[in-house]
Amino acid sequence: MHISAGFDSGNIQVLKADSCDDIQLAIHKDHQSDFYQWFHFRLHGERDQQYVMKITNAGGAAYAPKGWEGYQAVASYDRQTWFRVPTEFDGQNLTIRHFHEEPVCYYAYFAPYSWERHQDLIAGSQQSLDCTPVHLGETLDGREMTMLVVGDEAAAKRKIWVIARQHPGETMAEWFMEGFIGRLLDDEDGVARALLNDNVFYLVPNMNPDGSVRGHLRTNAVGVNLNREWQNPSMAQSPEVFLVRKAMEEKGLDLCLDVHGDEGLPYNFLAGSEGTPSFNDDLKAAQDSFKEALLSVTPEFQTQYGYDIDAPGEANMTVCTNWVAERFGALAYTLEMPFKDNADLPDADYGWSPSRAQQLGEDVLTALWRHLK
Ligand SMILES: [Zn+2]
Repeated sequence: MHISAGFDSGNIQVLKADSCDDIQLAIHKDHQSDFYQWFHFRLHGERDQQYVMKITNAGGAAYAPKGWEGYQAVASYDRQTWFRVPTEFDGQNLTIRHFHEEPVCYYAYFAPYSWERHQDLIAGSQQSLDCTPVHLGETLDGREMTMLVVGDEAAAKRKIWVIARQHPGETMAEWFMEGFIGRLLDDEDGVARALLNDNVFYLVPNMNPDGSVRGHLRTNAVGVNLNREWQNPSMAQSPEVFLVRKAMEEKGLDLCLDVHGDEGLPYNFLAGSEGTPSFNDDLKAAQDSFKEALLSVTPEFQTQYGYDIDAPGEANMTVCTNWVAERFGALAYTLEMPFKDNADLPDADYGWSPSRAQQLGEDVLTALWRHLK
């Protein structure tokens, strides 16, 4: 048996792997940070053999115990289809039990979205006449920050921003972007065409390339949580936010969605900017309008479960959604998807999955069209 994680977004430490029924593992912390919860590793074993893998430091993970309750890990033989495998949490250990039908199996916290796939997304998108990739600058590890501009900047009535994966372990956010971008660039899709008649889109499908490749849960190359940097980003600590914020100032912004995954709640939900100093009835009406539109187009979205709403004036202004809403007086939402499943429409085999995240990305376009119409 051999366990490895020396690949894109790999993260595991092997403590003991000499018997199939007592494999002991640990998740590495994000570099220069105490956050950890993302794991991704490969077990090369034998066909027709049961493996019992214990992540021994799961109890100290960033979202323990809530994130592990009712959670099932994902596995894949072909690195394309990720299915759920029996997983238990005892307060300290996360135990994954899986009977191998093939020698090599991959395991992860959620279906990975690789840096190679990200490059394919950017390269493929530029082949649409409506789409231009823009180089914003570089990350601390020297990766490019790319924004896609979709539509006619000169003619547009509104400027719509969608950014994703500030927290790199929330890979569902980039699966969402793939669905969103694919539909927006489909020139036979009426909703996309209608939206592009009036609006221009600024899209950043991966806000945290370094954390993504390093196998981090929540931070960039120097352990910084990007979604606490919006008030005062710097090229030394948070170039990703610094560069995107600068582009927002240059281009303008009328609506912003910041796409994430939530470790605990088994639902899709939105979080608004209620606690910002300038929040008012117009913004409340805009929030309600978009929420109603999304509710009407997909049963994957709901409004019963979500974060507590900030009291007036109590918003954390270092968070993207709050900073954006205040700075531009615009509708801004954080969109959260589950790591586990949508408890309203559970799927025991796959849980919340790449294809469901992509579908939600497509459906959000319909909601935007209804909201803006
Ligand atoms: Zn997040």
